[in-house]
Amino acid sequence: MNINNIRHSLAHIMAAAVKELYPGVKFGVGPAIENGFYYDFALPSEVPLVSGTKKGLSLADLPKIEKKMKELIKKDLKFVKKEISKKEAKKIFKDQLYKLELIKKLPGKTVTTYQNGEFVDLCRGPHIKSTGEINLQTFKLTKTAGAYWKGDEKNPMLTRIYGVAFETRQELEKYLKTQIEAEKRDHRKLGQRLELFLLDEEIGAGLPVWLPKGAVIRKIIEDELYQKLSSQGYQWLYTPHIGNLNLWKKSGHWDFYKENLYSPIKIDEEQYLLKPMNCPFHVKVYNSKIRSYKNLPIKFAELGTVYRYEKSGVLHGLTRVRGFTQDDAHIICTSEQMAKEVEELVRYGLNMLKDFGFKEYNIYLSTRPEKYAGTLKGWEKATKTLKYVLGKLKLKYKIDAGGGVFYGPKIDIKIKDSLGREWQCTTIQFDFNLPDRFEMKYIDKKGKKQKPYMIHRALLGSLERFFGVLIEHYIGAFPFWLAPEQIWIIPVGSGHKKYAKQTSSQLAKNGFRCEIKDENETVSKKIREGELQKIPYILVVGDKEMAKKSVRVRERGKGDIGMMKLERFIDKIKKEIEEKK
Ligand SMILES: [Zn+2]
Ligand SMILES: [Zn+2]
Repeated sequence: MNINNIRHSLAHIMAAAVKELYPGVKFGVGPAIENGFYYDFALPSEVPLVSGTKKGLSLADLPKIEKKMKELIKKDLKFVKKEISKKEAKKIFKDQLYKLELIKKLPGKTVTTYQNGEFVDLCRGPHIKSTGEINLQTFKLTKTAGAYWKGDEKNPMLTRIYGVAFETRQELEKYLKTQIEAEKRDHRKLGQRLELFLLDEEIGAGLPVWLPKGAVIRKIIEDELYQKLSSQGYQWLYTPHIGNLNLWKKSGHWDFYKENLYSPIKIDEEQYLLKPMNCPFHVKVYNSKIRSYKNLPIKFAELGTVYRYEKSGVLHGLTRVRGFTQDDAHIICTSEQMAKEVEELVRYGLNMLKDFGFKEYNIYLSTRPEKYAGTLKGWEKATKTLKYVLGKLKLKYKIDAGGGVFYGPKIDIKIKDSLGREWQCTTIQFDFNLPDRFEMKYIDKKGKKQKPYMIHRALLGSLERFFGVLIEHYIGAFPFWLAPEQIWIIPVGSGHKKYAKQTSSQLAKNGFRCEIKDENETVSKKIREGELQKIPYILVVGDKEMAKKSVRVRERGKGDIGMMKLERFIDKIKKEIEEKK
């Protein structure tokens, strides 16, 4: 049983059900997708030249369609494939303007159709044999959305119905449960409620702004990277946001990634490109001096902001954007140094992810595709090194044979968040393209020129996406060391404000981020607000606390954990910072 055939077949069955319920409906396309399927429809009232009064579909209509689908499935209808001439197809689909458009664009003189009961669709297949193969409890229609015909906003907007389908009922139930959980932790909603970042259409789609609280977290992440990488011999670079187009032509980016690049900007008589990657700048820095084997490895790091074109339809909060900052680095080394460098990268990458709370991950090793840059020997050596390191560190990994990028083999580490969803973070990629194109060299022991090995690597990937994942992983309740506001101090009455201030400055002196909440509201209301804001510690100070130089501590998720001396509280939270709890 092929689940994709089932999903695709369900799309047809859904279309058949919609046709019975809404005669006169026009069909767009209906493919299988990840976890399910969809179909696009133009309902009678939305179709030009057809008089109808029915309004668009909504969520409330889905059960009715689902019921109709089940009726059709129970009839055990066969899927019958036919190859027919285009002329004949045009007759069959004479009322279906979108299908006619598709027929016109298809190559050849014939097309294939699939008939299921009374419903005929223009389709290449494949499908299941008969609707009887579908278990009624393994699919569900989930949502409706507007979708432009062919994804082009100049075209009419169609109604899209999404469904999900799995091999077993258990899988479907698990998926639906996860979806509910995922909605609760949607970083777009949490980001707004907790004032972490801003997405504003007037600023521009896919261009997030880090708000003060989000910026605190970003600064902690950046400091962490800065400190750790500096201690490992990395040198930091800052490079411009645009560069001469010729640079990108030379690097090959202009040819290979054109669909992800923005149009060049004309400055004086030259063309400039908004940078999609930092690599060519780093290579130029390397080439700005003669390098000896004694200088290697050279490791250049940069928190480099890059811009890549994404279709507006796929933009999503912080996880799919048009401008983002990579924790980028390039390691340039000799072949003898490769293994040690890769090992350090993997080891450090995993430790870093663990510090941020991601203890589970999947590792993928992608090998040489058919078309590739560099030499076969170089690829083999690099691939062997990657395998050797993963073996040495006793890490399990999957091989994506031939799935490497054209310029070199790579290791990808995908973290699993608290819902078990995979997110691409760390990537370690060899590059045989840039060293060639930019003629990178070093002088070896014998005084001869040699070509170095080059490794691109990002540990967190994009800071924006990593932050989005972090928000969802923790449902906004960041661990103490990352929380933008770590402690709130609530004075019980106006007579306690001075003591609250003393407490606050004591905490600030020890490097903690705290706020005094002395607005004219009840203590319980402020506590509730603090809980909503997911503040790790809320300290309440009144007469008793003041007299004993103490604080009453409320810990997130635990509630009141009692009164303690301020010094003892400081010791406790210092330890939590050390442990990155
Ligand atoms: Zn089909
Ligand atoms: Zn790079």
